[in-house]
Amino acid sequence: GTVTPIKITNKEIANDFLNRYDTFLFDCDGVLWLGNHLLPYTKEFLDTLTKLGKQAIFVTNNSTKSRLQYTKKFASFGVTVKEEQIFTSGYASAIYVRDFLKLQPGKDKVWVFGESGIADELSKMGYESLGGVDPRLETEFDATTSPFLINGLDESVTAVIAGLDHNINYHKLAITLQYLQQEKVHFVGTNVDSTFPQKGFTFPGAGSMVESLAFSSGRRPAYCGKPNMNMLNTIVSAFNLDKSKCCMVGDRLNTDMKFGVEGKLGGTLLVLSGIETEERALEISEEHVNPKFFAEKLGDIYELYKQ
Ligand code: PLP
Ligand code: CA
Repeated sequence: GTVTPIKITNKEIANDFLNRYDTFLFDCDGVLWLGNHLLPYTKEFLDTLTKLGKQAIFVTNNSTKSRLQYTKKFASFGVTVKEEQIFTSGYASAIYVRDFLKLQPGKDKVWVFGESGIADELSKMGYESLGGVDPRLETEFDATTSPFLINGLDESVTAVIAGLDHNINYHKLAITLQYLQQEKVHFVGTNVDSTFPQKGFTFPGAGSMVESLAFSSGRRPAYCGKPNMNMLNTIVSAFNLDKSKCCMVGDRLNTDMKFGVEGKLGGTLLVLSGIETEERALEISEEHVNPKFFAEKLGDIYELYKQ
């Protein structure tokens, strides 16, 4: 956007911000917590929204955990969240397979490159998946002995979902490529993030692995996480949301803020507790969109509101 972002620095702006929206979509890491450490006043902020009759929805690009595992993560911080309030890029990918590609449970199977968060969501929808965390993929690749090649490829596989795998190896890439070489097999990517930050370091993100498969296969994946509109459309229809009354809250300009602006949500809030700085929030650049509001951290808005 070209409008200068508003920094939330006093009670009046904080109240105005909270009054404008009915639904808040929260990115998780960098906004609510950093890894396993809850940011200050996250719980109080969420409780305040509940008291004000607002709706909270959690939208994460992390495909490695299922929504059920996310509810447990919230519970470990003393925050009660329903599974229905959570959207991971793995869940969004499973919905894409069901509602857009229209794969049939019991007939079509999905080959997974990634962790258990993807297969768990597929299984909940009745889909059988292959690959993923199968321990037989952990062995060194040998084309003559791989159990995934010995009896040929599984003819029932009609889609590949690829996401971040902390145990990426050549065997997994090699078998996934065999499925992608089949024209009938759809190619779905959980999220395009090239990197993600953790403890002051920058690590390879899902996109760095999915794009390796895109390169070797010469194909383009349909990405389902932020900032892709597949994710937003799923959420809007699940809750029948009025987009003009929604605000996207995130820590990343090129995914979270882009998601909110391109999705034509009523507002966007950037928090600086994750990966962006105030200079970046204010900088006009071809490479990112600016937020409507920004704050150092979510808890600051709670503290100003409470004054
Ligand atoms: N992908 C992985 C594997 C992660 O661990 C994280 C953060 O924990 C993310 C993506 C980014 O998640 P979010 O969209 O909640 O910031
Ligand atoms: Ca984030």
